[in-house]
Amino acid sequence: VVDSPPPLRVTDLEKHFGGITAVDGVSFDVHEGTLTGLIGPNGAGKSTAFDCITGVYTPDAGTVEFNGEDITGLEPFEICNRGLVRTFQIARELEKMTVLENLMLAPAGQRGESLWQSVTPIARRGVAAEERELRERVWETLEFFEIDHLAASYAGTLSGGQRKLLELSRALMTDPDVVLLDEPLAGVNPSLEKKLLERIHDLREEGYTFLLVEHDMDVIMTHCERVIVMHQGRKLAEGTPAEITSNERVIDAYLGG
Ligand code: ADP
Ligand code: MG
Repeated sequence: VVDSPPPLRVTDLEKHFGGITAVDGVSFDVHEGTLTGLIGPNGAGKSTAFDCITGVYTPDAGTVEFNGEDITGLEPFEICNRGLVRTFQIARELEKMTVLENLMLAPAGQRGESLWQSVTPIARRGVAAEERELRERVWETLEFFEIDHLAASYAGTLSGGQRKLLELSRALMTDPDVVLLDEPLAGVNPSLEKKLLERIHDLREEGYTFLLVEHDMDVIMTHCERVIVMHQGRKLAEGTPAEITSNERVIDAYLGG
């Protein structure tokens, strides 16, 4: 039996902005079904790496492989269709729509096999049936994140934490395998933070894979199986939370001793 490739493999990734090197030759794997943390000080290149992985930027060098296929330089929607998504902040236009409409508009995946599996081939479904299925999935998602009571609220009126739940809901509507989360807990109150982390764990048990950028080291240490540390565009270290916290280079550069 041949080992299957990791869902996400980044090799020698580079991204420059004029004279600034944002990502400077980073390589890492994200293993299936894990919650992997990506940490590092401000400006370390974490968000730029996410943007290169998800097609927002084309990297200047290096490759991104998803389930063994080279996806480097593909458009974001193509990468999303394959099952790799990142959460995006709710855009201004979407703030004027309700939570329900936000999810109805999220690009619904047709890849089957997920928590929200669609069983009937598309050709044999009428438009009405398709619409009904989409609605059912939207409601399931709203209930899963416990934001169903907000269905009729305008997205622009949500609290910071409720927004984060909506952003993750929208990402999950695309039927992803791997979800990249860039500071999903920023501005989230403790009770919503707990809920969001519980939902991430539930999804991970369903087989979803997460890569999480997060500043709060307690969250990283408590919730991640593996941690990748970036510093000045490079990978400084990688390992279990215990290995990371005892790594001298990490302590010197980041944890500050
Ligand atoms: P992090 O997410 O780890 O805080 P970023 O990826 O946002 O780091 O930024 C890495 C470096 O790249 C920083 O020096 C930042 O100023 C620079 N940078 C990021 N995006 C751009 C851009 N669009 N144009 C120019 N410089 C950028
Ligand atoms: Mg960032």
